Amino acid sequence: MDYRRILLAVDLTEECRRVAKRAVALAKSADAELHVVHVIEPLSLVYGGDVPMDLSSVQDQIHEQAAAQLAEFAAGIAVPEHRRHLVFGRPESEIHHIAENEAMDLIVVGSHGRHGLALLLGSTANGVLHGASCDVLAVRVGRDVAVQNDDE
Ligand code: AMP
Repeated sequence: MDYRRILLAVDLTEECRRVAKRAVALAKSADAELHVVHVIEPLSLVYGGDVPMDLSSVQDQIHEQAAAQLAEFAAGIAVPEHRRHLVFGRPESEIHHIAENEAMDLIVVGSHGRHGLALLLGSTANGVLHGASCDVLAVRVGRDVAVQNDDE
């Protein structure tokens, strides 16, 4: 079965370019619709929920910056505005929601291929894999991979 609708999850770091390259190539070869999602994590989640100050203006700035970065990134891989999703929450759950609501049949994420304890504790890629209602492709990222595939 060919994939028809592919959701690329990006954390907007340098590494996501490699992940995007795979997703773009896959979408092209399957003639699929490519969507991009970035999830902004609430500061209260990142800092444990108990920060004794009003963070709303900081959160607004983070949102503005993320919107600009996502727009630039998505434009660079020719994903049109209506297929860009900027949402707020916990990355794993929000990626699952978008994948379900938008009837995606593949989610593409980056994976650092962590071992041992880190795997037990779980990365975003792990979180996305568990509980996804469609296929998940984890593209290896990280320094060792960057050296191996520099000419890609
Ligand atoms: P991590 O486990 O945080 O190293 O992230 C692994 C992969 O999960 C990234 O390469 C992205 O594909 C995805 N990811 C992580 N954080 C986010 C985010 N905030 N929004 C969307 N995707 C994310």
